[in-house]
Amino acid sequence: MKLSKLALSLTPSPIFALNARVEELQKKGIPVVNLCIGEPDFATPTPIQKAAYQAIKDGYTHYSLGAGIRELREAIALKLAQDNKLKYKSDEIVVTQGTKSALYLIFLAVLNRGDEVLIPAPCWSSYVEMVNVAGGKPVLLKLKPPFRLTEADLKRKISRKTKIILLNSPSNPTGVMVEQAELEKIADLVIERNLLLVSDEIYEKLTYGKPFISIASLKKDILRRTITVNGYSKAYAMTGWRIGYAAGPLAIISAVSGLQSQIASSAVTFVQKSGIDALTSDQADLFRMQKEFSIRRDYIVSEFSKMPKISFTPPDGAFYLFVAVKKMLGGKYKTSTDWCEALLVKQKIAVTPGEAFFYPGYFRLSFASSMENLKKAVEGINRFIINSEH
Ligand code: PLP
Repeated sequence: MKLSKLALSLTPSPIFALNARVEELQKKGIPVVNLCIGEPDFATPTPIQKAAYQAIKDGYTHYSLGAGIRELREAIALKLAQDNKLKYKSDEIVVTQGTKSALYLIFLAVLNRGDEVLIPAPCWSSYVEMVNVAGGKPVLLKLKPPFRLTEADLKRKISRKTKIILLNSPSNPTGVMVEQAELEKIADLVIERNLLLVSDEIYEKLTYGKPFISIASLKKDILRRTITVNGYSKAYAMTGWRIGYAAGPLAIISAVSGLQSQIASSAVTFVQKSGIDALTSDQADLFRMQKEFSIRRDYIVSEFSKMPKISFTPPDGAFYLFVAVKKMLGGKYKTSTDWCEALLVKQKIAVTPGEAFFYPGYFRLSFASSMENLKKAVEGINRFIINSEH
């Protein structure tokens, strides 16, 4: 069987592959502390679970509109207005199977062969493959620590073929946020150069002190050039429910829902119904999880600050620490992938090598795990750094 050139050229998610390997080891009874995947360890809040059971009972088990059920799009429009100062009508919103799907469909909807998407790196690995699959050209803009994107960085990389600038603040894998003054300059740049902006705001609810700002709220003219994407996975611990959304100019959103209607029909109907409850009911569970993430973040930052031979930028948001191990490479371990492999084999701790984020020499640790696991990880990583001959 000959596979297509597209399938052969695609790199499956390295994070999913590593996670599958760790789960295999755990099934064999090997107690691995798994900090490689970016998903909350919390259960989905009970009111959302109950809303889903009720939705099934109430018959939300049929196809929905391709764009998503109207009531949900209205609830999302209200959320975007209240939380993000963004004025979208419900027709300018499409509900998708996760934020991943929203991003992918956006690229399919707007990119022609050779159109460039400017992606600040280190970045979430999927962006690059999504752009490739959609026929565009991902152009990585390599940031230096502290990884804080500026308008000047973008200006250096923009070409005549640039069509989209991709923004992910707080970022996966660094947790770093773009400063408001830079967001304003970036908005001006997008307007001036007649570009589109895709703003992936999935970590919006997980910030540690700095206020979150949606770039599309900063000026009137940037709203119609921005597609804001967000989802439920991280804030509401709903990774497996597969629900996200995109809001943007009507023509693009209609194209996205048209594509979705042919590819997947829609997001799952009863999940959509419970998505209304997640947004409109008491947010106590969200606050509880936010508080816990904040405690874990402070613990991890404080413990890693004491470790030798590593460096990192304290995260402003998300639930990751992106750690430089460059000083330990070149001898026994040639690459950060080798280093992470040895950490897994010797200390039974799984973290994701920087190569997965197009940034070798680093690893990403997810602190969306129990304090018990984080303590084990701190001890094991410390032991590994001190005892290993590099
Ligand atoms: N965007 C970023 C930056 C992510 O880190 C992730 C998941 O790791 C996603 C999007 C995908 O989220 P979803 O589960 O909503 O597809």
